[in-house]
Amino acid sequence: MKILRKISETKRITSALILKKKTIGFVPTMGYLHEGHLSLVKAARKKADVVIVSIFVNPLQFAPNEDFTKYPRNFKKDEKLCRNEGVDYIFYPDIKEMYPDDYSTYVIVENVSLGLEGKIRPEHFRGVATIVLKLFNIVQCSFAVFGQKDAQQACVIKKMAEDLNVNTKIIISPTIREKDGLAMSSRNVYLNPEQREDAAYLYKALEYARRKLTLENYNRDIEFIRGQISKLIKSRKTATKIDYISFNNSRTLEEVKTLKNLKNTDILISLAVRFGKVRLIDNIVIKR
Ligand code: AMP
Repeated sequence: MKILRKISETKRITSALILKKKTIGFVPTMGYLHEGHLSLVKAARKKADVVIVSIFVNPLQFAPNEDFTKYPRNFKKDEKLCRNEGVDYIFYPDIKEMYPDDYSTYVIVENVSLGLEGKIRPEHFRGVATIVLKLFNIVQCSFAVFGQKDAQQACVIKKMAEDLNVNTKIIISPTIREKDGLAMSSRNVYLNPEQREDAAYLYKALEYARRKLTLENYNRDIEFIRGQISKLIKSRKTATKIDYISFNNSRTLEEVKTLKNLKNTDILISLAVRFGKVRLIDNIVIKR
């Protein structure tokens, strides 16, 4: 496994691989890797001749009041985990390499970026789309794997790839969870023991909704389901604020306002909840 810190060297290597007709599979991350990230690497490893993981905490997707400087980092551990998974290259640039002082180009994906996370974090997806397109151009991958954990991000990237005729296939991989259901996230290290215990209720609440909508075939008031999810989460002392509990078309992210006549519409139920200063997101998709 080789660590690449420069764009020029990385492009040289990936161009040579393409000439040799190698399939490059790519997993973009912000590091502090866990089993969720590694599941994406495994999915890439199955299909690719060469697997590249990027580790870059992208300042552009953090608002000034967010946790960019505090975001957890442990490159040595990440390196070991990647080596164990058979990764071929880690692309690990520094900030100036990606955003030199005169940097001035950004990618904005309209509509799907606006609701949910986009409402609370208005600049976030501009940062995400910009870095992802830059990374695609550098690693020149045939496909890239993203996690369903960040459902809106997956929609934004897919739309960007479609609209800008990007030569990379986008693959979405399922959310990996802890034993108690909490979706794995680099940010889970911020949780104190009590918050950690309460955080498992996010998935319990989503599973409640799944049961109601599938097993019980509930098709009446969506506000009732939202209310029940909210009640369950609010019953936990450390859940200090619910940013949203949302029902959306899983592809277009249009809001689903009624459960009637929803044939062929998969519903994304997503939520964002703060446990003190720690903000967690999670989602499930109800297939119809
Ligand atoms: P991040 O390092 O948080 O930017 O995440 C990098 C990639 O890993 C993104 O595509 C995430 O959606 C994905 N990811 C993060 N957590 C999980 C998880 N628990 N299960 C599956 N994929 C995940």
